[in-house]
Amino acid sequence: MTIALIAHDAKKELMVQFCIAYCGILSRHHIVSTGTTGKLVSEATGLEITKFLSGPQGGDQQIASRISYNEIDLLLFFRDPISAKSGEPNEHTLLRLCDVHNIPVATNIATGEALIHALERGDLDWRDIVKPNR
Ligand code: PGA
Repeated sequence: MTIALIAHDAKKELMVQFCIAYCGILSRHHIVSTGTTGKLVSEATGLEITKFLSGPQGGDQQIASRISYNEIDLLLFFRDPISAKSGEPNEHTLLRLCDVHNIPVATNIATGEALIHALERGDLDWRDIVKPNR
């Protein structure tokens, strides 16, 4: 499976801790991410991560386009719900595309944990069956 990681600045440390905790599971999958999130996670965990551009420079859209092609199976997008962000329209598009393509998505750590356990149990294996573009 291909898992995409994005974390707003206020949630980057949380994402790093999450990935340290679930490194064993994540290491069995292909991980992609926006630039800064990926750099921090790979430095902290040693995970091999395909890093796109930084979010504000277009990394969110790079992930969105891969979602459109059904190349992403799970999105972990830890958002900062408090501070308004200039990238919000792009983020809305990203989440909309997840709904269009039925991509499991977590916008907070509680759902992230639920999804990572579901992934580990094989509950998301149906994604391999329904991918038309692979
Ligand atoms: P970043 O992007 O990982 O490059 O900081 C995340 C974001 O869009 O805030």
